Amino acid sequence: MSKYAYRDQNRKVIVSADQAMEEDRNNVFYCPNPLCDAKLYICSIDGSKEAYFRATKSEYRHVENCPFNNSSIDFDKSRYDESQFVYDEAINNLLQPTKKARTKNKGGKDKKGKSVAHPLRTLGQIYSMCKSLSVKSTYSDKQISEMILDDRSEYRYPKGCFGNRIIEACIKGKIYDSQKKEIYLVSPMASHKYTFILSFDDEEMYKTIQNEVYTNKDKIVVVAGKWESSGTFNIFKTNVCSKKQVLIVK
Ligand SMILES: [Zn+2]
Repeated sequence: MSKYAYRDQNRKVIVSADQAMEEDRNNVFYCPNPLCDAKLYICSIDGSKEAYFRATKSEYRHVENCPFNNSSIDFDKSRYDESQFVYDEAINNLLQPTKKARTKNKGGKDKKGKSVAHPLRTLGQIYSMCKSLSVKSTYSDKQISEMILDDRSEYRYPKGCFGNRIIEACIKGKIYDSQKKEIYLVSPMASHKYTFILSFDDEEMYKTIQNEVYTNKDKIVVVAGKWESSGTFNIFKTNVCSKKQVLIVK
């Protein structure tokens, strides 16, 4: 399910599902993933205005592991307060050790117990937002390409990936080193251009995440990190202090 798609096969004209018109109902659209041949059609969730694109024809399905063929990226922007979202704050919060995570600004319910919109907080929420918009779009005044390294935004990272960034990654070759308490990923998923090292201090957290990555080694792994050079060309490293930093897209 995708919140946006391309009107043309050359992927020049972006259409968001909310903008698609009644007359688009039978038109073919193209998957945001340039390496995916899926043909998409506009669908509407019954009883709501939330429209999305889906590959409804069996002969034009998404390629394997296409990020736009996963319900994890379903994003309902009306549930979140965009104006209150500050990307670096949100990432820094995910990087806090699990026990010390700030509980301030929790939101979710008002005094009467009614649900209210709060800013995006979890990695899953931020990732699904990033995938619901084109990389040149902005969310709370920040361009998506500055938030996430994936196949679409690779052109923005010619020299590597530094600072607070989300990476959409996969496994290639060596997966982990238990002596060093490290897990290895590559990103973007198509080019495998960069290698990323997740480094742990906490043995238990290392084991939990290592096991989860290993048992889902054919899946997409999304990581929020504060990336720096490992000292080796094209290899970057972050500490993982919280399980909130890693998301397996199942
Ligand atoms: Zn696709």
